[in-house]
Amino acid sequence: LDIVQEATSALKRPAFKERYEHFIGGEWVKPVRGEYFDNISPIDGKPFTQAARGTKEDIDVALEAAHKAFRTWSKTSVAMRSKLLLDIAQIMEDNAELLARVETIDNGKALRETRAADIPLCIDHFRYFAGCIRADESTMSEHDEFTVSINLQEPLGVVGQIIPWNFPLLMATWKMAPALAAGCTVVMKPAEQTPTSIMVLMELIQDILPPGILNVVTGFGPEAGKPLASSPRVAKVAFTGETTTGRLIMQYASENLIPVTMELGGKSPNIFMPSIADADDEFFDKCVEGAVMFALNQGEICTCPSRLLVHESVYDRFMERVVERTKSIKLGHPLAEDTMMGAQASNDQFQKILSYMEIGKQEGAEVLCGGGPANLNSGLENGYYVQPTIFHGNNKMRIFQEEIFGPVVSVTTFKDTAEAISIANDSLYGLGAGLWTRDAHEIYQIPRAIEAGRVWVNCYHAYPAHAPFGGYKKSGFGRETHKMMLNHYRQTKNMLISY
Ligand code: NAD
Repeated sequence: LDIVQEATSALKRPAFKERYEHFIGGEWVKPVRGEYFDNISPIDGKPFTQAARGTKEDIDVALEAAHKAFRTWSKTSVAMRSKLLLDIAQIMEDNAELLARVETIDNGKALRETRAADIPLCIDHFRYFAGCIRADESTMSEHDEFTVSINLQEPLGVVGQIIPWNFPLLMATWKMAPALAAGCTVVMKPAEQTPTSIMVLMELIQDILPPGILNVVTGFGPEAGKPLASSPRVAKVAFTGETTTGRLIMQYASENLIPVTMELGGKSPNIFMPSIADADDEFFDKCVEGAVMFALNQGEICTCPSRLLVHESVYDRFMERVVERTKSIKLGHPLAEDTMMGAQASNDQFQKILSYMEIGKQEGAEVLCGGGPANLNSGLENGYYVQPTIFHGNNKMRIFQEEIFGPVVSVTTFKDTAEAISIANDSLYGLGAGLWTRDAHEIYQIPRAIEAGRVWVNCYHAYPAHAPFGGYKKSGFGRETHKMMLNHYRQTKNMLISY
């Protein structure tokens, strides 16, 4: 309860209820089996609220509500849909501090990041899709002298959306906004580790949502996620999570021959070319900051720079600065204003990260800094804190090949561009990548050779709503963000009209 009080003291209203039911058909609905589960805050390892434990029965109730709502929502004007998205954005902006605090308590990330990144990105995402649908037009062309061809983009129907815990609100927003904009209705299942912030958002917007267009059923993957992804009543499944789970979701959805989009894991290489040493100090500092982004959001970002590929000529000077800067990251209570890195989202994730630190050591990788749990005190003893960790090794090691999803980065060197590209592409994944160089030729050539859906050049971790984001290889398919996302929630009807 300390956490609840702490979060609430700066707000005009309580941060959250003691217990959340499902949000279905515009109402708070008790789980059919009457079961709830504790939501543990990673800050101190204690439960701070409860969420309904959803099962197939609850999913069926939610699907029924979503189907009923689809009949009218799919027929509403784009102006109305756009207005709703703008209204949601406004309510989020008016309650940004509340949402930032709840997100921090739910997930463990530092409040300064939640405030500066997560919530503003969510708001902008709703505004972006509100604008896109207003500007989107059906196309008409002349077939022959007497016939015109018209393409209509029609909503797919009721869609199932399953999301992870690393950016609970942002991942929810990335999926809700385009689906609602396209005229679909939604049944969403948040991650069991972080069910609360999405329910707080539902509380805030329930009065403006037409009932049933957005339904949220909380619960565990096999109990609530599987019946959603397997249901013959969904027209599409949008999934973000681990590659192994994505494979299961595709199997379930294939029974019903429905489309899926998959936003999966990553092991993003960041390449630091020799020219970074020739540049001015400001640029060199920027490169150091880029590398240290491996610890942003506690390293729980699918595109975290988790592999650093540094040219051998700059390795010593560059890594000395990266290690020094990493050691200066202030770990602590995520709600404290000066905390830069908070808690890992769950005990499972905490244990997984620690186990990879041991794997790295056993594989013979050199620990440049960190390498274990961060033993914090003052009430944080049971929270899930780890030291930001840098390993030096080679790309064949498991710590280079497997997604750790924590503040652990693996560094290696390369001799020339061909070797850098070869190491970068030697991965199952192909989500994000970074290139740091002052050479204009490299800026155009190297990104084209990298197998990844997003290559940042001389910057990192920006996620504007208008830039398509998604994976190559085992990182998935389909794109989040960008107006092309609307077509993941629509199907094309062609009408040939003779007159
Ligand atoms: P996860 O796959 O364990 O869980 C994701 C969601 O799937 C949760 O809601 C979970 O309850 C549900 N789920 C689990 N098993 C299921 C089943 N059998 N049937 C249906 N649903 C099931 O992933 P996670 O640990 O929550 O998230 C971390 C992963 O997400 C990382 O691999 C990360 O890279 C990835 N991620 C990818 C992106 C992207 O845009 N590509 C963004 C964020 C996170």
